[in-house]
Amino acid sequence: MNKNRCLFCDIVSNKMNADIVYRSDSVIAFKDIHPKAPVHILIIPKEHIPTLNDLKPNHQNLIGEIFLAAQQIAKEFGLAENGYRTVFNCNRDAGQEVYHIHLHLLGGRQFHWPPG
Ligand code: 5GP
Ligand code: ZN
Repeated sequence: MNKNRCLFCDIVSNKMNADIVYRSDSVIAFKDIHPKAPVHILIIPKEHIPTLNDLKPNHQNLIGEIFLAAQQIAKEFGLAENGYRTVFNCNRDAGQEVYHIHLHLLGGRQFHWPPG
């Protein structure tokens, strides 16, 4: 893959397939290709933002929308009552692999704390 090509931008522009479960003007959500739990959804802004370190004050509403989408999707997938986990990984130490920010929504099993 081209060094400047972004996998998640390709999903946003439909160049790459994904199982999309939520769509708005500025956000989409789709199933993770290698799920780490019975439900594993990635919620992303359509705008290419590489890491949480690149957030600007004008992204405040966008981040709020991402969490409200997580809440809605969790409800739709029947996770709200038992619970679920949301995670943004930032850079190497957290294990970020795709450099287009994405909120992981994980549910359907028990999670441990602290995480590994
Ligand atoms: P990160 O480690 O960057 O926080 O998470 C990246 C996530 O993207 C991983 O959970 C990985 O399974 C998922 N992923 C990587 N490539 C693809 C893809 O092409 N399609 C989908 N749907 N998920 C992907
Ligand atoms: Zn991107």
